[in-house]
Amino acid sequence: MDKIQAIRGMNDILPEESYQWEWIESRIRDWLAMFGYQNIRTPILERTDLFVRSIGTATDIVEKEMYTFTDTLNGDSLTLRPEGTASAVRAAIQHNMTYGNARRLYYCGPMFRHERPQKGRFRQFHQVGVEALGFQGPDVDAEHVLMASELWRSLGLPADAIRLEVNSLGSKEDRSKYRESLVAFLKGSELLLDEDSRRRINTNPLRVLDSKNPDTQKLVSTAPTLLEYLSNESIDKMERFKSLLENSGIKYMVNPNLVRGLDYYNDVVYEWKTDFLGAQGTICAGGRYDVLAEQIGGKPMPACGFALGVERVLATLESCSIAIPKTTPDVYVVSADETAQLYAWDVCQELRDNGLKVVLHCGGGALKSQMKKADISGANFAIIIGDSEMVREKVSLKSLRGLKMGAMDQQQDLNVTDAISKIRENNV
Ligand code: ATP
Ligand code: MG
Repeated sequence: MDKIQAIRGMNDILPEESYQWEWIESRIRDWLAMFGYQNIRTPILERTDLFVRSIGTATDIVEKEMYTFTDTLNGDSLTLRPEGTASAVRAAIQHNMTYGNARRLYYCGPMFRHERPQKGRFRQFHQVGVEALGFQGPDVDAEHVLMASELWRSLGLPADAIRLEVNSLGSKEDRSKYRESLVAFLKGSELLLDEDSRRRINTNPLRVLDSKNPDTQKLVSTAPTLLEYLSNESIDKMERFKSLLENSGIKYMVNPNLVRGLDYYNDVVYEWKTDFLGAQGTICAGGRYDVLAEQIGGKPMPACGFALGVERVLATLESCSIAIPKTTPDVYVVSADETAQLYAWDVCQELRDNGLKVVLHCGGGALKSQMKKADISGANFAIIIGDSEMVREKVSLKSLRGLKMGAMDQQQDLNVTDAISKIRENNV
């Protein structure tokens, strides 16, 4: 029979790699706690309408990237979430979460988009997202940028590995004024555009600015920019945002063609980019979305947020040769035979009660082959229990990593309490 394989673009994360995920997830949790963000967990499946109304019909995501299917029981159209903001805002509205109180929230987990799998682009990928609901900004927008920059620093990424690009999308009115002049410009050079962009002139002309086609990019670099159409209010917000970044020593570049792939944004938007991942260079992106709550049936609620792609952050760490510590056991316990193993069970329990990470060898075999397993396990120490150790209620402790063991260089006969002290001394 054929082997059943995972779905293309949806990856298994095996232990050889998952320790990196556990490491980054724990860093991320600590980082979010430092800024007072609370966790929200929403379902992976939502009504399709939620994403159509929030992300917008003329976007890549809604046009071609969503996993949508009909619930055969009642005919509802359902979609695997392609992003997390819409769900977080839906939940906030549904549970009246921002009533009289702005909220700082975060989520993490898998997202699903039907894209062509390639380096840094998958069909199931993982985002960590931060949302500040009920805040006018731009102070909280600047807080988000500062947060991301703190995360890069705490992960050990060199300052020049990632750059920040910012822009203002203004208000809906600003954009509709700008849209006219942009459409006129694009129509004047229609023949130079790729097919996708030509189609977008009428459906979503701002997205042409975000095209990844080099010829189109060259053309739009001479297009009129939205910055020329911003209202005074939007200009003020942007200026305050920029001065807050400068105040925190955060370097940025204004990219007037930065528009983002989702329609719900307004005013301040930004992306963190790296050169290490080719066309998938954006590792984190976000901005303000003041109209989203209304679009999905809530009361008006100013809000902003950002999401980072965990796979892309990990790939950037790898490109920068940042070593992620492996989680290994402290001790691997081997025993000469079944009777000695009975005593080994008790020894393991005592070691664990003292906070050590312990693997008990299971499956028998000669001591020599058990010691090979001890070595492969990555443990710093082996404890060897033979009949004589059992009778004397002692253990043999052996360093597996050539650590400093003082006088007791090789294998040593110790009682369990002394073995625990030795392991602790040498573990630090
Ligand atoms: P791109 O332009 O690369 O398609 P996007 O604008 O669609 O990105 P967002 O919707 O802003 O991305 O998602 C935020 C982050 O999630 C991205 O910056 C990226 O790090 C990550 N991301 C988005 N799509 C994918 C994907 N298919 N595979 C892996 N990571 C992704
Ligand atoms: Mg995309």
